[in-house]
Amino acid sequence: MRTSSTQDEATGGSPAGTAVPAARLVGAVKTYGTGPGAVRALDGVDVAFGAGAFTAVMGPSGSGKSTLLHCGVGLDRLTEGRALIGETDLGALRDRELTLLRRTRVGFVFQAFNLIPSLSALENITLPLDLAGRAPDRGFLDELVGSLGLSSRLSHRPSELSGGQQQRVALARALLGRPDIVFADEPTGNLDSRAGAEVLAFLRHAARERGQTIVMVTHDPVAAAYADRAVFLADGRLAGDLAAPTRESVLAELQRAAA
Ligand code: ADP
Ligand code: MG
Repeated sequence: MRTSSTQDEATGGSPAGTAVPAARLVGAVKTYGTGPGAVRALDGVDVAFGAGAFTAVMGPSGSGKSTLLHCGVGLDRLTEGRALIGETDLGALRDRELTLLRRTRVGFVFQAFNLIPSLSALENITLPLDLAGRAPDRGFLDELVGSLGLSSRLSHRPSELSGGQQQRVALARALLGRPDIVFADEPTGNLDSRAGAEVLAFLRHAARERGQTIVMVTHDPVAAAYADRAVFLADGRLAGDLAAPTRESVLAELQRAAA
């Protein structure tokens, strides 16, 4: 258990305590556009995501959650400051190197699933590894597919699967390469509460049992309560940081931030 907030700050809530954080933003500023219409989506954010921790990122619409994650995993570049995955400074990479890093070290789960309609579930799951020229670990693939209840669905196209099944395919796709960090942007936003609970339980299991680092954007205090930690953004700044969030502590923090 984490006991000291100093340790949390140093390691980003990592259960390992001393490990290098899986991902980190240092003095992160992101500005969209120029001149009077410019938007400062991130306004000086320092945050570390500990290896093996499951972190929820919360905050009102437009507070910079997606920008934080996009810049944190190299989908977009910061205007100022540094973004690191492990020891790798993303700002120092050329576009090709950044693409390669995303394919090999980051897994993505989107609200809209983002599956390829013409590919089977299995082909969708292995696509990132295929693109990176890596062979999937067969044993781990079987384990993932089995624990997600997808074994009998692998030859189905996305249109032949329920929303919950499609999102579980997207989870398998994100986790199969054992990435340094999985980034999930409202992964339960399009699911009913039962399918959403299954996805959240799986994410928590992946963090606790396999040490998978996960950062998840959510609006939902119930979803955030599955995480080990919740960080709060307001107007592009870090506005709160809770260990072991519960639905009640998250609601209280959201109310405090809005006051
Ligand atoms: P959230 O995910 O918390 O809703 P975002 O990170 O998407 O917030 O957006 C933060 C701010 O940056 C918002 O004011 C949004 O309108 C603006 N923004 C986000 N992406 C772009 C973009 N590509 N171009 C211009 N403004 C953007
Ligand atoms: Mg967003």
